[in-house]
Amino acid sequence: MTPVLVDTRTPEPKRFIAGATGDWEVIIGLEVHAQVTSKAKLFSGASTKFGAEANSNVSLVDAAMPGMLPVINEECVAQAVRTGLGMKAKINLRSVFDRKNYFYPDLPQGYQISQFKDPIVGEGIVNISVGPDKKGNFEEVEIGVERLHLEQDAGKSMHDQHPTMSFVDLNRTGIALMEVVSKPDMRSSDEAKAYVTKLRTIVRYLGTCDGNMDQGSMRVDVNVSVRRPGGEFGTRCEIKNMNSIRFIGQAIEYEARRQIAILEDGGKIDQETRLFDPVKGETRSMRSKEDAHDYRYFPDPDLLPLVFTQEYVDELAKDLPELPDEITARLVGDVGLSAYDASIIVSEKAIVDYFDAVAKGRDGKLAANWIINNLLGKLNEVSTTIDASPVKPDQIGGIVDLIKEGTISGKIAKDLFEIIWEEGGDPAAIVEERGMKQVTDTGAIEAAVDEVIAANPDKAQQAVEKPNLAGWFVGQVMKATGGKANPQAVQALVRQKLGIE
Ligand code: ADP
Ligand code: MG
Repeated sequence: MTPVLVDTRTPEPKRFIAGATGDWEVIIGLEVHAQVTSKAKLFSGASTKFGAEANSNVSLVDAAMPGMLPVINEECVAQAVRTGLGMKAKINLRSVFDRKNYFYPDLPQGYQISQFKDPIVGEGIVNISVGPDKKGNFEEVEIGVERLHLEQDAGKSMHDQHPTMSFVDLNRTGIALMEVVSKPDMRSSDEAKAYVTKLRTIVRYLGTCDGNMDQGSMRVDVNVSVRRPGGEFGTRCEIKNMNSIRFIGQAIEYEARRQIAILEDGGKIDQETRLFDPVKGETRSMRSKEDAHDYRYFPDPDLLPLVFTQEYVDELAKDLPELPDEITARLVGDVGLSAYDASIIVSEKAIVDYFDAVAKGRDGKLAANWIINNLLGKLNEVSTTIDASPVKPDQIGGIVDLIKEGTISGKIAKDLFEIIWEEGGDPAAIVEERGMKQVTDTGAIEAAVDEVIAANPDKAQQAVEKPNLAGWFVGQVMKATGGKANPQAVQALVRQKLGIE
């Protein structure tokens, strides 16, 4: 269904594409197909397990045997409502399933059961954050959602298994999909990428879709048109079935420039369906765009309208987890993290849980620093997820405590982290056993400072005129004490002994 196009975009876009005859604005609207997390399919009891043997998860309903009737899976309905709530969207207490008629070998029914005029979820909002720019700032943009409807997924045709035949695998046939249709509110490939990333984060937090794009659990149709800044909407092309965020960005960049070149040559854009070729980095025509009336939509006579109560919705709302926007507000507002650091923690629910476990009763900023700069870096290096981290939250917490109380310096803390990563153990006990404690005893530090000054009389002389040289002495003392001296104490003593004010 094509809604009347109105420009609902706020704030004003900042980025335009320069053409030969002036600037152009790219307009993007996305249709995201998200496979619902549920054990069984939308209208049958067959399993939804990914990677099963071909055609092993196919019930008589999925195979469209004569006389079989669809029965709605209530869990899929709950998942769609949860997702709608996660997008602050209007939940429709009454919705209707329609037949979308077309022929394809991977669609045994000859029609897809979908929702057309009355979807389960109406208008909503997805907040995205684009950036950071060179100054580390993010731009906050609100992307409108037009609707979310439930529909059946199709099976898979396989054309590369045999020289003269095509095969079909119906395992995916009838799995529940949520189609989330955005308003044409995005104005750059970066915004489109941020939107898909955010939507994926939201469904993952909610547990309503696993968001695994490489397994096809989330697929995106990308609608692109161009116009003069602020002018009339142009004709769109739709790039089908994209399953990589990076390729979505590349496809938009290519497609916008292709359209601009045509328009600047005095041509016009044909509304069509296109495919992206990741090897060439180009989009190419697949077919001219079909219209809604081509599908002969009508209400499915096998299914009653889907009706539920506001109490049912309220119950589901009560059990929703804390979502990315709320967590970001908490991390930036209460803990005092930068927007950038917060975005790294919020990117995955498992990182938030880890952070919360470390930060409980501790300095949140220090906890975040440790997780972002040390733990995530190390995990990334060895391609391990945070759930499988050999260093657990209480151990990072222990390290943070030792830094905070001045028992170890930041440098020693890094060594301690490496030891725990390799060998495990209790941070405080390791520090005790291996003599890693920071030296705060001024007598010992004083001796080390005296030694370094005595060994470098020329530099000590110069330091009186060039106070910056004090830093060099501090470095030498730290080295001499194996990094264990308290840096503040060293700093104070060096300046005092060198006679720097
Ligand atoms: P269809 O199934 O025919 O593609 P939908 O209404 O499901 O229609 O989706 C249309 C999508 O195209 C929406 O995401 C909408 O925002 C987007 N869109 C509509 N007009 C334009 C346009 N001129 N430029 C870019 N995107 C557009
Ligand atoms: Mg479409």
